[in-house]
Amino acid sequence: MFKLNKNINKIEEKNEFLALLKKVKEFKKNNPDKKVLSLGVGDVSKPIIMPVIKAMQKAVEELSNAKTFKGYGDSSGYEFLKKAILDNEYKKCSFTTDEIYISGGVKTDICSILELFDINSKIYITNPVYPIYKNGSLCLNRNCTSVKLKEQDGFIPKVPSTKYDIIYLCSPNNPIGIAYDYTTLKEWVDYAKKNNAVILYDNAYYSFINSPSVPKSIYEIKDADKVAIEFRSFSKSLSFSGVRCSYYIIPNKIKKGINDIWKKRTINRFNGPDYIAQRGAEATFLSESQKEINENIKEYLNNTKKLKECFKSLGFTVYGGEDSPYLFVKIKENIKSWDAFDLFLNKLNIIITPGIIFGSEGDKFFRVSGLASKEVILEAIERIKKEYER
Ligand code: PLP
Repeated sequence: MFKLNKNINKIEEKNEFLALLKKVKEFKKNNPDKKVLSLGVGDVSKPIIMPVIKAMQKAVEELSNAKTFKGYGDSSGYEFLKKAILDNEYKKCSFTTDEIYISGGVKTDICSILELFDINSKIYITNPVYPIYKNGSLCLNRNCTSVKLKEQDGFIPKVPSTKYDIIYLCSPNNPIGIAYDYTTLKEWVDYAKKNNAVILYDNAYYSFINSPSVPKSIYEIKDADKVAIEFRSFSKSLSFSGVRCSYYIIPNKIKKGINDIWKKRTINRFNGPDYIAQRGAEATFLSESQKEINENIKEYLNNTKKLKECFKSLGFTVYGGEDSPYLFVKIKENIKSWDAFDLFLNKLNIIITPGIIFGSEGDKFFRVSGLASKEVILEAIERIKKEYER
């Protein structure tokens, strides 16, 4: 009899996201008259902007004509998009199109990149964490250690005193909502250099970075191109969470031949991302797109700022929200995060994300997102104020 992959069962959580969805579904079924507002999901609410839609429509037309039809593309993406990204996002770096991979989402890539490294590599992840790093590592039977972040350090990860081979860092961070500054990232780059480690840098929320003290890319740190693989997504900036397009850079300086190895792997595991999505992503860099993208991001950040002001004015301790659409809010009552979730859902009809979903160190917190529409945010603020001002 065949056997299944036992490693998948190492995912210890009882699928907390599914539990959350189930609770919301039940609540809505039992309370059809109540208007439920969601601050819980990490998905965007803005539609895709017109210049990008037009580029995708044009791509669809091309596929309908034998002369312009595209079949399988390069497994690492089309040159036109690679070039556009390097010319616009990495002007100051000297990466070639051999060092960039276009793909179908950071969620997939940030786990499957582990196939590049020795199976016994020691992996560092934080607690709280974007759960995918941990669960993806476990499914691949990798050796990963969760290191607790301390609230007194503002949840900023400190370089360890022991050696790790692979470091997962997420900035701007999900779920904490903070972004790491030049000093923090330099410490990690120095650590990686000293310990021959590789940093897997999840930069999915880079477009939310405003603070002058925060680099937009890890490659702004000297020598990061010798130790870091950076992952970025079009999901948040372009509302591509349903279209799917992302990219990552593996600098040749990390190790001689590293891209030859990864190309060999990629060509055997992937037929390349969607042509239509890549043409849409290319349109990001048009000046009319940039203007609209910036306006959308500004609105999400403004939502987040308003939520932050609301929670702070009510005496909550709040992390994040300056360079990210997320806030990590400390629960005021002496209750755990699932109880806070129930309280918000039942009393305020608002969905929040319980911090325990991101690890044990999150259990005194909940995450809220400013990615909902302005109207939802304002109504949620009104309800929260009414409850906590009493
Ligand atoms: N990385 C982080 C930190 C995220 O929060 C998310 C999605 O919410 C992703 C990656 C997923 O990105 P993508 O849509 O490109 O798979």
